[in-house]
Amino acid sequence: MGMPGVGKGTQAARLRDRAGVVHLSTGDILREAVQRGTALGTRVQGFLDSGKLVPDELIGDLIADRLGQQDAAAGFILDGFPRTVEQVVILDEALRRLRVGLDGVYLLTAPKSEIVRRLSGRRVCADCGAVYHVDSRSPRVEGKCDACGHALMQRPDDTEEVIRERLEVYNRQTLPIAEKYRERGLLHEIDGTGSPVAVFERLIGEVNLS
Ligand code: AMP
Repeated sequence: MGMPGVGKGTQAARLRDRAGVVHLSTGDILREAVQRGTALGTRVQGFLDSGKLVPDELIGDLIADRLGQQDAAAGFILDGFPRTVEQVVILDEALRRLRVGLDGVYLLTAPKSEIVRRLSGRRVCADCGAVYHVDSRSPRVEGKCDACGHALMQRPDDTEEVIRERLEVYNRQTLPIAEKYRERGLLHEIDGTGSPVAVFERLIGEVNLS
């Protein structure tokens, strides 16, 4: 969990590599659907472009289906889900059916000024989704992805106006669920400032990888 741009995707990808479990990002799944022009993509594009949340029932079906797939049987990292109180209920139900529990909920934190700086300088590979930053993580060749050579782009929802909306949505709809997980004794707060390596060291100190 954490504000948009706090580093959830970056840290989840590192954790996936370390723990050997799948990384399920609802944002990535939805962006891919938009890019491929699927029926789901057509339905959700307006929500993504404006920074609003996609309706819970669409996300619920998508996640229940994804968690039931074979590659998730050994474990999974959820990134960007759940994001509303209703989605917590949807997740509880899906986990109950699968007979698995959550090991922990990791809340990355950073000051809002840092978040705005990160989001407005963020660039992503239009093909493989690798993440860069104009100041702190520039690619070897300007405008091109180090991993696959495709063009880098700014996410359409990383513009100033949409960033403001996404932060507002986060505070109103998502932050309250951190309290729910705190009450269940699952919440770990991680300082998300500093380099990705430094944040990962803090994160890994809180995750039980046994
Ligand atoms: P993210 O990449 O996690 O910042 O997500 C980008 C956008 O995808 C969000 O602004 C929402 O429009 C949509 N989205 C991602 N995850 C969810 C979710 N769990 N519930 C509703 N909408 C979501």
